[in-house]
Amino acid sequence: MRNPYSINVRDLLHRPGEMREESLVIDSPEKLGEGLISVDAGTAIDLDIRLESVHEGILVSGEASTVATGVCGRCLIDIAQSVQIDFQELFAYSSGEAFDFEVHDDHVDLEPLVRDAVVLSLPFQPVCRPDCPGLDPETGERLADLPDREPTKTIDTRWSALADFPASDDVAGGAGAPDREE
Ligand SMILES: [Zn+2]
Repeated sequence: MRNPYSINVRDLLHRPGEMREESLVIDSPEKLGEGLISVDAGTAIDLDIRLESVHEGILVSGEASTVATGVCGRCLIDIAQSVQIDFQELFAYSSGEAFDFEVHDDHVDLEPLVRDAVVLSLPFQPVCRPDCPGLDPETGERLADLPDREPTKTIDTRWSALADFPASDDVAGGAGAPDREE
């Protein structure tokens, strides 16, 4: 099966200074990531890449964007997050030395590069929103779905808002508080 990440660079080989840009969309051949959220197999990955011929090989830099889906780490609701990553790597001409990335048969294979960058960008503790209150420890209900419910062990937000106001004695203590004049 053809590797969709394999890019033909024959026109750039051994022509330092030549450069080409390419945009492509790949349907991810496999699931990326093993955590709470991952990029499912078949998900479109948008790639904008720049291929530059240098003396040692082909310098590949670019951006990838896709969508990861999974569950919130606090309340377990389904979530989707956009994933945007940058990458850059030199694909060296085969020289007998060991390089992680090499030009093979007039092609560069971006698969390990993009896969690793995407996987590393996925959060270990994804949340549906930054202040997700999680689940009720007793009932297992999603607290964000129960806005009127008083949390079991934390201060009711209506009272904590009042606590931010100074005590009434402090306000009255100042000489000539403006709203007291008649
Ligand atoms: Zn959540």
